[in-house]
This record gives sequence, C-alpha cells and structure tokens, in this order.
Amino acid sequence: MSRSIDKTNDFSLRSWVESANQKDTDFPIQNLPFGVFRDRGTTQNSRIGVAIGDQILDLTSCYHAGLLQEFPEQLQAACTASNLNPLMALGSWASSALRTCLSELLRWNRHKPSSEAKLLVPIMEAELLLPADIGDYTDFYASIFHATNLGKLFRPNNPLLPNYKYLPIAYHGRASSIVLSGTPIKRPQGQRKVPEDSVPSFGPSQLLDYEVEVGFLIGAGNELGQPIPIDTAESHVFGLCLVNDWSARDIQTWEYQPLGPFLAKSFATTISPWVVTLEALAPFRCPAFSRSQGDPLPLPYLYSSTNTRQGGIDLTVEVLLHSAQMREQGIEPFCISHASFRQMYWTMAQMIAHHTSNGCNLQPGDLVASGTVSGAEEGSQGSLLEITRRGSQPIKLATGEMRIFLADADEVIIRGYCKKENYARVGFGKCQGIVLSAE
Ligand code: MN
Repeated sequence: MSRSIDKTNDFSLRSWVESANQKDTDFPIQNLPFGVFRDRGTTQNSRIGVAIGDQILDLTSCYHAGLLQEFPEQLQAACTASNLNPLMALGSWASSALRTCLSELLRWNRHKPSSEAKLLVPIMEAELLLPADIGDYTDFYASIFHATNLGKLFRPNNPLLPNYKYLPIAYHGRASSIVLSGTPIKRPQGQRKVPEDSVPSFGPSQLLDYEVEVGFLIGAGNELGQPIPIDTAESHVFGLCLVNDWSARDIQTWEYQPLGPFLAKSFATTISPWVVTLEALAPFRCPAFSRSQGDPLPLPYLYSSTNTRQGGIDLTVEVLLHSAQMREQGIEPFCISHASFRQMYWTMAQMIAHHTSNGCNLQPGDLVASGTVSGAEEGSQGSLLEITRRGSQPIKLATGEMRIFLADADEVIIRGYCKKENYARVGFGKCQGIVLSAE
C-alpha cells in the first residue's frame, strides 16, 4: 500500500548542494519536495522544481539540459508544466521514477552538471506559488481529541456524536480562497450572536482562530462512480503539505447548525509551498491510531490490515505565535503547541476510501485536509479554542500580552517535520500568515 523505503531514503546520501547537507535543513537530499515558483520580481511563467537545501532544482532547466531524456514524453512534458497537476495526474509511478532520477542527479559522488546548465535557483530569489491548481478542497475532522475537546465546549453532556467512530466526518471546503504561505489574512466580517443578545449583529470576527492540519494533494484521480478501495487509496496521494484552516469561531457558532461550517472557514485557508511525497515519508510510517477497547471495528470498506499496521505517519506539527510587539522587541516566535499526525483516529487511506465510497471523484490537485491535529497531552491542542478552553485560560506571551484568540498583526507559523534514528530529518518548511485588521 504505502511506498517502500529505498536508496533515496538512505541516511548516508550527501548532495553537491552544500546547504542540503546541514543537519537542521528541512530539505536534505532524502526529502526532495515538489513546488512551483518563478524568479522573484518577474511575471514569467511559473515552473516546477524540487527544494534541495536553500536551493530549488529547476525541472524546466533539467529538461533543457537533457537530463530527463530517460523518461516517456508525457513525464518530460509534465516536468515543464506551469504547475504540478500534469505530474500528479500521471500517478505514483511518475513521481517515484522522477524522484529516483533527481536523487541520483543531486548526489555528491556524481559529476556535478556543467556550469552552463543553470539548474539551481536560490529559494530566496524565487517567488513561490500554489503548487497545484486546486479544483476542490475537503476538510476532515480526523482527530478524536480535537473532536472531543470541541464537543466538550459546545455540548458538555454529549461531546462525541455517535457517528464519530464509524465514519471520518468532513465538510466541503472552499478551493478558491486557498492561499500560499506568506499571504496576509484579512480578519473576516460576519454575523455573530453572543448568548446575551437576542439578535445577531454584523461586524469583524472577535474570535479569530487557526487550526493546524496536514493536507494531502491528490495524484491520480478516480472516475465518477468508481470508489477507491482502502488498499489502493495511498497510490492516489501525491504528497503532503501543512494547512492552516483559519476559523472565525463566533461566526461558526451562529451558522454551523444544521449544515456545518460555511463563512466561518471560507474566507481563507493557507497551505505550505512544498509538497512532501509519500516516497520521502516512507521511513516515518507507523501503525494507525490504536482504538480503545470497546470502540467499534471500522466497517469493511474502511478496514485493512495493511492500514492498521502502517497507515499512520509520525509527522510532528508545531504552531508558533509572533505578535507585533514580539517582533518589535526582537523576541523569537513562541511555540504554543505541538502534536503528531500519528494520533489521528482516521488515516489518510480511510479518509480517501470514505470520500469516494459513494462514487465521488477525486481529481489531480484536489486538497484533502485532515482536520485539526490535536493529541491527548496538554500542549498538543491544535487550535486556540482548545488551548484557551474557549477563552477561559488565556495564553501569556513573553511580552506580557495575553491571548484568547488572534489579535490584528499576530503572525501564525506552522512547522512540520519527521525525525527518526538512522534517517535524515525530513521537513515541511512553513505555513505562515499574518492577520490584517478588518479595516
Ligand atoms: Mn478544520
């Protein structure tokens, strides 16, 4: 089901790109995440590349230098496309084969390509763009800890609804407002009603929050009417990124019944620029979350022994907050939570099998997000709503400022990485956004 560990994951590999060999880099030669960029300050067509240390290996340049000739024409064409959709559409064989080739090309012991071929662009000199044309976006709710924490706040006597342990809950998100890391987020306006008031009012959200999530971008899609079985579900995943599902809690509380979130979420969703492939994540696979005694077994279409054994990913996500005052005083961003994706109640494969179980078609470039990644321990809650217990336990920042929800000019930074003994650390870069006032 999942991609197996191979030579490209070998800890001993070194690259002729020096910055890729530094211990704390997000992008060692074992990672090779895909992204889309253009030279900063230009309006040239975008092109695809692979992050390596502090550089981007430009696949269009690789093509023109004749380095991709071993591949079928359609894969060569996908490498010179303006986004990742054509490569995604080819399926996992294509990204896998390309990874093997690029890993060899970038290796230390290999001849560095001639200097006429300018294959590298410094990340600092590039404008990063959305990795794919994202046609559809679905947001799940796969952490039982998040669901329980939220349920307790909204329904103290009945925190977890009876369907939760039977199916991965989700809603259809808004694809048009997905933005790349670094895009400022304008505080949304909307209807909100506090219990003391008898009628709602319209204005800027007072309870703006983030949700730290893991997103997976779909590779090969499925035909309408053709469900994806759980055991082949992962072959439809191109790779993973970080997601911030910005949420206006006051708007959400007033609008969410009976049809779920709408304007509380659709004003913006931020994703990180680099898509880390399942090949790069192969060493960090782990068992699916182990259900408590007494929890129901998943129905057959959501059950597979392979998934139980290795459907999880030990990916740590952390959230850092940086207020305007902290920036002025030169104080570093403050880590307010960290959690592991391995604690999700539902796996990626189960989410995909469920999503398509009614025949719904997924398409290359679709974004499927996991839902807020919250763990069981204190300090692992993936939203301010949970951390502050809906405002009753404020966070104190190093400046003495208190936070219940996000203030204007607050910057939220999500980072993600996988670490394991005898393997290179694989990083996700960052998913960052700053809150602008509603005006
Ligand atoms: Mn969410």
